[in-house]
Amino acid sequence: PSHAHSPTYPSLLQVAVRVRPLTNEERQRGCYRILEVQDDNMLTLMNQATDRNDHLRQKREKDKHFLYDRLHGEDSTQKEVYEDTTKPLVQDVLAGFTATVFAYGPTGAGKTYTMVGTPEQPGIMVQALNDLFQCLNDPSKISKTKISMSYLEIYNENIRDLLQPSGTLDLREDAKTGVIQVAGLSEREILTTKEVMRLLTKGNKERTCEPTAANKTSSRSHALLQVNVRKSAIKGVGEEVKVGRLFMVDLAGSERAKQTQNKGKRLQEGAHINRSLLALGNCINALAEGQAKFVNFRDSKLTRLLKEALSGNCRTVMVAHVSPSHHHREETRNTLVYAERAK
Ligand code: ADP
Ligand code: MG
Repeated sequence: PSHAHSPTYPSLLQVAVRVRPLTNEERQRGCYRILEVQDDNMLTLMNQATDRNDHLRQKREKDKHFLYDRLHGEDSTQKEVYEDTTKPLVQDVLAGFTATVFAYGPTGAGKTYTMVGTPEQPGIMVQALNDLFQCLNDPSKISKTKISMSYLEIYNENIRDLLQPSGTLDLREDAKTGVIQVAGLSEREILTTKEVMRLLTKGNKERTCEPTAANKTSSRSHALLQVNVRKSAIKGVGEEVKVGRLFMVDLAGSERAKQTQNKGKRLQEGAHINRSLLALGNCINALAEGQAKFVNFRDSKLTRLLKEALSGNCRTVMVAHVSPSHHHREETRNTLVYAERAK
């Protein structure tokens, strides 16, 4: 079923950008904004300036404009971001399709806030599951739906289960179907939003976080939540089963190794992360151009795992994250360029 065209989404790839608010610390430090949201689609990166007065003296014509499918400014709510990016995918998944949401951006730009959030401000992962739960109760009893989830991290090209931590897990490719699976990955059947929040929070504590010069708790790993929706319905004398899948990925920080001044082990991590983000960028690029068959998914574990999701007629949403502060100009520009090129 994932090869048929799904009607609910206009294009295979949607790219959104979210600008997080200045943090209290940034305000106190006197950080000023270098980003301006013009409308739903256009974001302006204001030209080089060393301080606010300097900026005011600059000619605005040097500002750089970026276009995206959707922009979410500093005051965007978790609900708005979810409804604009992921809610349209939920219908696809219920109909038996595969869909993917990525959170991209440097450490500290708001990826985990968008994906997981807090109990008061639940993120995309939690809201998507909550919406799926609404479909569990079919009063007519014609169909039965089962929802399960797995949560893993890819760190240095090693896969680890975040719900049931043990050693590293291997990817297995089914010789006949070509379907790639993680051998030994746990799968939990889940019933409530509260349980999801608890599992994700607990899982995130297992994520490999290493201190770097860029940020004290830089996430050097990709965290991938896979939700399986198995819907069985009585059709005549037989049973029809549809399996939809939703991948939601909190990507590792996209900051460059040279910028985090890493040495030795850290630098190697940076190299791995960049490799998989580069491989992902290539896949998404090809997807945008409808040429996924030319992509080498084998370049990284992340793209191998998401091969089917990135190569079929599957919906993909990328939410790129940036800080509004002048302090992060380089990373912000890199992120905006990566996200623009994705289209
Ligand atoms: P990342 O996962 O990209 O490293 P985080 O999601 O941890 O970044 O965000 C960094 C900090 O900024 C956190 O303290 C988080 O709560 C805060 N933050 C990020 N985005 C928002 C937002 N949209 N609204 C309010 N606070 C946010
Ligand atoms: Mg994070």
